[in-house]
Amino acid sequence: MKILDSDLEYVGLAKDTEICKSCLNVVVGKGNLNAEILFVGEAPGRKEDEQGIPFVGAAGKNLDALLGKVGLSLEDVYVANILKCRPPENRDPLPEEIKAHTPWLIEQIKEMKPKVVCSLGNYATKFFLANGDVDNMKNMPGITSVHGKPKIMEFQGLNIKLIPLFHPAAIIYNRNLVSAWEEDMEIVKKEIKDGQRTLS
Ligand code: URA
Repeated sequence: MKILDSDLEYVGLAKDTEICKSCLNVVVGKGNLNAEILFVGEAPGRKEDEQGIPFVGAAGKNLDALLGKVGLSLEDVYVANILKCRPPENRDPLPEEIKAHTPWLIEQIKEMKPKVVCSLGNYATKFFLANGDVDNMKNMPGITSVHGKPKIMEFQGLNIKLIPLFHPAAIIYNRNLVSAWEEDMEIVKKEIKDGQRTLS
């Protein structure tokens, strides 16, 4: 798998965090590093931890299927997570874990310069809307009210275009969300056609 320059530096830092002591692999990302779309999920699950690759379990299979529905593939996106290590028993990420791991995500955005950042589900969406202020995430609106709405915003010194999407894991259990996902992805496709890459 290809890696960014920053990955080498940050893989060492992540390994020093408590959460990484219980995981098998640090999960960096997958897809096309030159893509115009960056997907950001929450954290690796068991399968992702075993293989060291994000979105390879049930949610990942659904993500592949959903991408296929809108005529895209992993060639068109890069996929990363808020946390690079699996939280024990798949529990929710803790604020201090998000604080420890997200400098790496921010560096990934700086190097990739995507045209659109798609946060997948509540965690990632609230992280971006709070401009990375983890303690303020709880005050941010949830995915149901913001999905598919492009937001040009300053995020950690970068001008990004954020388009929140429902998490593929949620769509497995609620098939009513499939059509919303397809409509939201049409907006993403339109935005990458007209938009520019992230400027720092
Ligand atoms: N869910 C996520 O948010 N990320 C993964 O990598 C897998 C499942």
